[in-house]
Amino acid sequence: MNETADKKPKLDFIRERITQDVQGGKNAGRVITRFPPEPNGYLHIGHAKSICLNFGVAQEFGGRCNLRFDDTNPITEEAKYARSIREDVHWLGFDWEDRLYHASDYFGQLYRYAEELIGKGKAYVCSLTGEEIRHYRGTLSEPGRNSPYRDRSVQENLDLFRRMKAGEFEEGAHVLRAKIDMASPNLNMRDPVLYRILHESHHRTAGAWCIYPMYDFAHGQSDAIEGITHSLCTLEFEDHRPLYDWILDQLDVPCHPQQIEFARLNLTFTITSKRKLKLLVEEGHVSGWDDPRMPTIRGLRRRGCTPRAIRNFCERIGVAKRDSLHEMALLEYSLREDLNQRAPRYMAVLKPLKVVLTNYPQGESEELEAINNPEDESAGTRMVPFSRVLYIERDDFMEDPPKKFFRLAPGREVRLRYAYFITCREVVKDDSGEVVELRCSYDPDTRGGSAPDGRRVKATLHWVSAQHAVPASVRLYDRLFEKPNPAAAEDFRESLNPNSLQVLQGCRLEPALAQASPSQTVQFERLGYFVADSLDSSPENLVFNRTVTLRDTWAKVEKHLRHQASQSKRKKR
Ligand code: ATP
Ligand code: MG
Repeated sequence: MNETADKKPKLDFIRERITQDVQGGKNAGRVITRFPPEPNGYLHIGHAKSICLNFGVAQEFGGRCNLRFDDTNPITEEAKYARSIREDVHWLGFDWEDRLYHASDYFGQLYRYAEELIGKGKAYVCSLTGEEIRHYRGTLSEPGRNSPYRDRSVQENLDLFRRMKAGEFEEGAHVLRAKIDMASPNLNMRDPVLYRILHESHHRTAGAWCIYPMYDFAHGQSDAIEGITHSLCTLEFEDHRPLYDWILDQLDVPCHPQQIEFARLNLTFTITSKRKLKLLVEEGHVSGWDDPRMPTIRGLRRRGCTPRAIRNFCERIGVAKRDSLHEMALLEYSLREDLNQRAPRYMAVLKPLKVVLTNYPQGESEELEAINNPEDESAGTRMVPFSRVLYIERDDFMEDPPKKFFRLAPGREVRLRYAYFITCREVVKDDSGEVVELRCSYDPDTRGGSAPDGRRVKATLHWVSAQHAVPASVRLYDRLFEKPNPAAAEDFRESLNPNSLQVLQGCRLEPALAQASPSQTVQFERLGYFVADSLDSSPENLVFNRTVTLRDTWAKVEKHLRHQASQSKRKKR
């Protein structure tokens, strides 16, 4: 391998193939892709992979990517889903410009294609019932049987199909089928249904149609009408490709898109199936599609996840030909990496324990300078009020600490971040023996957090001033499922995590957070990244969601893998 080739990042198989096509002058070097959601639910993290791939490839090759709603099923589709999908794609950072299309825009053309097939003797109207059609289809091990209606004349077929369109028949009375091969080893090729009668109003075409194309008939032709060069889709459509190719080969279409299949994204501790996500909503396991525990784009957004983190995650997992389960920890890693750069830091005490500084003058207070983000100098500093009565985190104190506990304990000195050294002098308990207050002294010479005599402390704690702090409730989210692969279980709901949400009341935040705007993501020092809830938080009633903790399991996993790799190399030597 020469040096330049070595330095280039390795292309995935899709980009490799497109590179070859472009270099070979196929489609005059053009690259046109599309993201084709069905507007029957909200987008999830799996769709994000497809969006990043389709829009990403178009950008990289100087091409274009369309947004096309594959809205061929009037029963399950709604305008509200279409709206949310447009919002979500934009939020992820992609733009279809003026190329928003709908399969329903092509109903007229698709109908003409169907007549064209009939005219060529390649499609027929079948009057078997749905049940009978299934029965005649055969199985993987047995060939199917021809429908008794398979040899209807072109004239008869055209006449029946036009009357289907005119609304003369009941649902199920007839369907239009492709005339291919009932003995094909590929079940999709056994005279698949192309059109069915549905006396349903469509969210875009209203009552204009009472026959609707099947997805398999609409998809390939919609791609062709739009001049899609590379039709990227998930692996379950691999067996449909011969059908799409067959239909396109029969018809006089403007172009014949190349379909390339890639693996769906599966993510540990969650599910990426619209149908199952819908069940979670309908059965009330979550508060809605935008519940911050949901892997939907809306849920992730409300959780505080950023578009950049999702894009980086999708880039990291890459595109492969074989299905696999990716680590949620990798998404969390991408999220921390982004937020670490951009989220301003504040102090917040989730489980407050009162601290009284007995030698701090009564009724006085002062302001101390705190750094907004050590990763970003331009973020500047802010002033944080300090006074005689403070709150620290209950977990940062132990009356009888074990060896490795370095935080506050009786007689011990610690640093309060950006403030002073304090020493715990006395522990106050209530009647039940619970610690309710610590009486401490502070060292006025340690203002800013260091001692002039150079003495050290082993811990730095976050804190807020009791009289200045603002109250808030904080929602701590955990994984929605306890098992890494909930979809593998017979009933995916079995492994729902009963503790996926814990609500803490009476948390205390530094006053700068009183004006937190909804959806603003911040770091609570030492605790994690949090976001003001976009629906429930207001200045009168602050509600924060935990986006992600600070602990980085992915870095550990990576380190472990590197260690393993170097160990095995050493063994081989
Ligand atoms: P679901 O199975 O969750 O209902 P879907 O495939 O039916 O998803 P569509 O609206 O048809 O949902 O999907 C739009 C596009 O997104 C399709 O091209 C589909 O292949 C792709 N897609 C859907 N789920 C995933 C996933 N988990 N990983 C990658 N791409 C996906
Ligand atoms: Mg689909």
